[in-house]
Amino acid sequence: MRLYNTLTRRVETFTPADPARATLYVCGPTVYNYIHIGNARTFTVFDLLARTLKRRFPDVVYARNITDIDDKINAAARESGVPIGAVTARFDAAFSGDMQALGLLTPDVVPYATAHIAQIVAMCGRLIASGHAYAAEGHVLFSVASFPAYGQLSRRDPEEMLAGARIDVAPYKRDAGDFVLWKPSDASLPGWDSPWGRGRPGWHIECSAMAATHLGQTIDLHGGGMDLQFPHHENEIAQSQCAHGGKVFARHWMHSGMLNLGGAKMSKSLGNTFRVHDLLAQVPAEALRYALLSGHYRQPLDWSEALIEQSVRTLDRLYGTLRDLDDVVVDAAAAPIPQAIEDALDDDLDTPKVLALIAGIAAAARKATDHSERAARKAELLGAGRALNVLQMEPAAWFARGAGDNDARIQSLVDERAAAKKNRDFVRADAIRQQLADEGVALEDTPQGVRWVRKRAEQMR
Ligand code: AMP
Ligand code: ZN
Repeated sequence: MRLYNTLTRRVETFTPADPARATLYVCGPTVYNYIHIGNARTFTVFDLLARTLKRRFPDVVYARNITDIDDKINAAARESGVPIGAVTARFDAAFSGDMQALGLLTPDVVPYATAHIAQIVAMCGRLIASGHAYAAEGHVLFSVASFPAYGQLSRRDPEEMLAGARIDVAPYKRDAGDFVLWKPSDASLPGWDSPWGRGRPGWHIECSAMAATHLGQTIDLHGGGMDLQFPHHENEIAQSQCAHGGKVFARHWMHSGMLNLGGAKMSKSLGNTFRVHDLLAQVPAEALRYALLSGHYRQPLDWSEALIEQSVRTLDRLYGTLRDLDDVVVDAAAAPIPQAIEDALDDDLDTPKVLALIAGIAAAARKATDHSERAARKAELLGAGRALNVLQMEPAAWFARGAGDNDARIQSLVDERAAAKKNRDFVRADAIRQQLADEGVALEDTPQGVRWVRKRAEQMR
């Protein structure tokens, strides 16, 4: 496979250090909220990479972590008045549900940050012992000056990085660019005992510790969104290389482009997000997956109603072609992936090319008249779809999508809200009422219980 490597800024032939065990680490979500469709883009791109690698190499270990300790989680718990564990459990489950709905593989390893505190503490200790980190006021900080290669991935000028960090420098930092490996926790915050007092890890070191624990000190591929290049990935490299005697941390780095809305990056902090959870209620999951793969992974992708509509229409046409071939029996699971599709994937995951090839196969299928030709085209179409995990359902199931499922989902939310009220979990009950209101569903109390109604579009404006 030829894949772009952010480290060298070139498309390179990817070969694992040990062809018998290729390793891939992808930074996973911080579970304090539902993920948005931008996050889903990154996870979908790396799902495609993992699937493709698994066909190229006999053993691929794919790890995607869950960050379940973070100040944003603490803040979310405080705001909604529930324990931290309740926030992480809820959004971890929601994340898994979203990933499954979008047709993503469960990674081989799903490490949780809180299950790796011992490894994190040990790593901090090694970094202090080797002069790459120091303890100060209950914190452990990485000394950026101790690692001259700092900035190699994002190709930032060290001076520039320091200038950016110079505003509001914490008094316990030796250099403005030094970053936190460990920080103190007061009694109100989650914490673990450590040589530096009771505390909790910083975000960056979690990934370094989890990657080393499950994949080894040098990994083949590391992935994440473009926005994580600096500082997160730069810091992962610094921590891991310095803790492991200078060994290369990741041999190949891949970054997916941002999903934008109206030209701006979709992000929780800007508030311009569409939650996958909500989109799944309105759009067939496979159309979301198709839309996310419609652009090349390194380019920005503009999210829009038009993109969704186009994806639904295209899948309607492709499933329509398959429906017209219903009389031809083909074993979908055994249909090979056409070589041209594999070649496009090997060319730095060229999904626009793959989708164009799929359209071409479908067009040929529609023209085919004799039985063996129709069978061959159908097998090709099913095999091609499998490469992206699309077109794998029965055409009838695709066309039967719609109101029925959504009504059942709304009713189950209404029931869940009633149960939450009974348990006096008013935060959850209100959250569900708000979510339904956002979808244009109103709740009415009647003597028979709660009834739900769809408000007309005029009323929603
Ligand atoms: P976060 O929860 O912000 O750490 O994001 C989880 C993953 O989603 C990371 O790999 C991010 O790079 C990625 N991500 C965040 N926002 C976007 C976006 N707008 N488009 C694509 N990927 C994103
Ligand atoms: Zn990470």
